[in-house]
Amino acid sequence: MTTDALPPVPSVQSLSSAQQRGTACVWCSVPLTPAIAADLGPRKIDAHGSTVLWFPRSCRNCRKDHP
Ligand SMILES: [Zn+2]
Repeated sequence: MTTDALPPVPSVQSLSSAQQRGTACVWCSVPLTPAIAADLGPRKIDAHGSTVLWFPRSCRNCRKDHP
């Protein structure tokens, strides 16, 4: 899998802390449980001047809408 295959996600700065932590869907903000969570792949983001990996998650419904 290449990063090109990953769906675009909202800017991490625009998300709530729950969405940033991966406990809420990045698109619809629904609280995620293991049964409905979908990994969106690692993203490189800038955090206070250093590049870190971020692992955004969404619910399965939104994942289907963002191929
Ligand atoms: Zn969602």
